[in-house]
Amino acid sequence: MPDRMVDEEELARDEEKDAGASMDGRRRFKDFDCPDCNANNPYDESFGDGEEVRCFYCGQEFVAQVSDEGKLKLKSS
Ligand SMILES: [Zn+2]
Repeated sequence: MPDRMVDEEELARDEEKDAGASMDGRRRFKDFDCPDCNANNPYDESFGDGEEVRCFYCGQEFVAQVSDEGKLKLKSS
């Protein structure tokens, strides 16, 4: 599906741009991998440091923590 491939490329480019612009814990994410069940959860509304996210598959809630390097960690809430 060509349309879908284009969308994914644009998403990747947006993420690179966001990371370059901030380079710190203010980076925002549009998806996460659940630490409990390993499912990938796309998030239409982006989330960032200190915000709560919920796994759509197992229902576990996490608090997002973004490191100074812009890496995402999820802590069970
Ligand atoms: Zn899960």
